[in-house]
Amino acid sequence: MKIICDWENCNKEGSYRAPVERDNSKNFKLLCLEHIKIFNKKWNYFSNMNDEEIEYFIKSDLTWHKPTKSFSSSENFFNILWNNALEDKLNIFKSSNFKNFKKTKLSNTDRDALDIMGLNYEAKWEEIQKKFKYLVKKYHPDKNLGSKKFEDNLKKITLAYSQLKISMGKK
Ligand SMILES: [Zn+2]
Repeated sequence: MKIICDWENCNKEGSYRAPVERDNSKNFKLLCLEHIKIFNKKWNYFSNMNDEEIEYFIKSDLTWHKPTKSFSSSENFFNILWNNALEDKLNIFKSSNFKNFKKTKLSNTDRDALDIMGLNYEAKWEEIQKKFKYLVKKYHPDKNLGSKKFEDNLKKITLAYSQLKISMGKK
């Protein structure tokens, strides 16, 4: 029995494997030559993005507010997603939101570190340095009669600062 291409409204023979999930080659669907080409083009579009960026893209208002088509099936959803990405009709990747997102791409550890230092997630390296100097002065045991609590705080702050230093590629 001939397998039909999995693309919407296509009746050609499906003889090319297309992964259904990212990083999972076990799960695949079969497409015809014409559609595997389109699929690969779109798939590559996301290959340089990390999961967070893809998630952002999926959640982005710009994607979801696209009218006329229904997102009822997941298959359809990914088709629409890829179509949008490929054409970038809505300039999603040029939008300032997306740029900002990329710029402030933080790991959970980075976020924790910024929390410990009482900085917001958009803090620039200069601000981090400035805050670190301020905190070191504030919590230095010499200034606090050797208080254990302040010493622990200072340790945490120093660890947080080292973490951010590494993340931001500073020496
Ligand atoms: Zn097809």
